[in-house]
Amino acid sequence: MAIDASSSIFSLWPDRLRHSAIVLLTAALALAALVTFGEVSPARAIAVFICVVGAALVPWRLHDAVTSREDTLGGNPVEAAAVQAIVAGMPDPAVLLDRAGRVIHFNAAASQLAPALRKNELAQFALRSPDIITALREAIAAAEPRRASYLDHVPVDRWIELIITPVLVPTTFGGSDYCMLMTFHDQTPLRRAEEMRADFVANASHELRTPLAALSGFIDTLQGPAKDDAKARERFLGIMHAQATRMARLIDDLLSLSRVELSAHVRPDTLVDIVPIIRQVADGLEPLASERQVGIEIDLPATPVLIAGDREELLRLFENLIENALKYGASGGKVVVSAAAANAPDGAGEIRVAVRDFGPGIAPEHLPRLTERFYRVDVGDSRAQGGTGLGLSLVKHIVNRHRGRLLIESVPKNGATFTACFPRIPARSG
Ligand code: ADP
Repeated sequence: MAIDASSSIFSLWPDRLRHSAIVLLTAALALAALVTFGEVSPARAIAVFICVVGAALVPWRLHDAVTSREDTLGGNPVEAAAVQAIVAGMPDPAVLLDRAGRVIHFNAAASQLAPALRKNELAQFALRSPDIITALREAIAAAEPRRASYLDHVPVDRWIELIITPVLVPTTFGGSDYCMLMTFHDQTPLRRAEEMRADFVANASHELRTPLAALSGFIDTLQGPAKDDAKARERFLGIMHAQATRMARLIDDLLSLSRVELSAHVRPDTLVDIVPIIRQVADGLEPLASERQVGIEIDLPATPVLIAGDREELLRLFENLIENALKYGASGGKVVVSAAAANAPDGAGEIRVAVRDFGPGIAPEHLPRLTERFYRVDVGDSRAQGGTGLGLSLVKHIVNRHRGRLLIESVPKNGATFTACFPRIPARSG
């Protein structure tokens, strides 16, 4: 009964105090027995007891005053070292704090994120965002996980998500204590992808709505004022046909783009000869070339040029490049398509197919953005040509899937050259 009562009283005390109390109680009982049996004088017993009190209480008071919180972690040095190694080895920035919010460990990624982090100092001195401090305060108070997102401006704008997880860590005196593990995750690529997806849906809807509005406008006119006007009907039906074709083309391009994106990680492995593919595309575009009064010059080797490729995608790729050259570079009167072997900057062999026109060219500020979806130098011109703004984006995705590169060079007033580069098949040994 007595043992139960004392253990329940002790259990309410902090670990270290309980430990000291047991030592003192045992020492007091032993000394009382020695005094009772006359083995030790009361004065000596008191002196010894004072020494025992000092030995039991002073070290952990001193310990608290002079050592860092880090040393109390881990029931043994191996555990403490393991905790430190785990924090150091985490791939994302990670900081381990004690219950008071003081830093115990942090890894190299965390010190890059917050260079002012110091061991044994309050983390909030280094992490100044009010969202972090609030989340940390709440996590400590409730001993529950918390999340916070904030925009970090240094060195560049980044969206960071912070996760605070309370973890139970063993302490030196055999007990355990809550520590707070803060991990930081860069959400910028995810947010960018979300923004791009939202932009893409908005752009696609806008592009589809324009011909749709034209179609329903003409339907209204044909049902109303132009009902009995055979000449107007003929003209409007022609425009409606062009608008419907544009919508169909847009949907085709969107589907092709999503198909190529879906298989982006699977590199085509069929050996294909690109010479007949290019010739087939050029032959198919001959009517457009003669309509625009442009001559297509083909400068291809007489022998097969093999690459690992997807025939259908290569047809789309060359069709887009040659058609663009005929549409936007028509004033040059000539388009040259050539293929040659060359070396990439890293020394690897590649096959380069260049489509060169002699039209007005493209101003340098547009070059980096040409492969963005729906990007056009002149929206009106592109629409008038039946363009969707997706052609070069599709070309870029196809080239990437083939593990190649797309080079765009242009001198304003002197035409443009679009070059698709594909890895060369290594020559078979033996
Ligand atoms: P579009 O469907 O508008 O042709 P693309 O993605 O194929 O879309 O091309 C994007 C834009 O790049 C075009 O709108 C045009 O402004 C420009 N462009 C593409 N090829 C050429 C070229 N050979 N000469 C000049 N401008 C070009």
